[in-house]
Amino acid sequence: MKRRELFGSLAFPFSKKEKQEKIIRPPYFENENSESLFLTNCIDCEGLCSTVCEENIIVIQEDNTPKLDFSISGCTYCDKCAEICPKEVLKIENKKNIDIKIEIDVLSCLSWNQTMCFSCKDPCLDKAIDFLAMFRPSINNNCTSCGFCIKVCPTDAIKIIK
Ligand code: SF4
Ligand code: SF4
Ligand code: SF4
Repeated sequence: MKRRELFGSLAFPFSKKEKQEKIIRPPYFENENSESLFLTNCIDCEGLCSTVCEENIIVIQEDNTPKLDFSISGCTYCDKCAEICPKEVLKIENKKNIDIKIEIDVLSCLSWNQTMCFSCKDPCLDKAIDFLAMFRPSINNNCTSCGFCIKVCPTDAIKIIK
């Protein structure tokens, strides 16, 4: 079992869709005119990007455009969605970190409230979560916004800021 899968299987089983309110696009779009390209070019596509995502996090919405759902898993930046995109909406040369910021809500985080918890630490392969002694985790500059820490938090304390 891959390390990612192991920690994924340890995550709480209930749905955490409520964590995600913003539309997060796969990380290969042009910064300029990105939204209009999604809306005009994805309409004739069968959602190919969602069929190749190795983490199954690409969801095709009612308007036929893709969004990432971190309640399912995180993004490995594997390039597959960009490689298969037939409409030049997603392109390898536009690769960048996902355009969100990840923060820990200290009010709901167990570790910030005197209960030992390392649920988010191990899935973070970028070593982007620092603990002060055994407590008080915070996100550092290594964060790639991959989202793998989100679904494993038992109290939904990892927030997406856009
Ligand atoms: S880069 Fe890979 S894991 Fe990330 S959204 Fe695209 S296909 Fe999925
Ligand atoms: S593969 Fe490209 S054109 Fe098709 S839905 Fe995904 S982003 Fe849109
Ligand atoms: S802290 Fe950042 S790099 Fe680490 S798992 Fe969470 S989103 Fe990914």
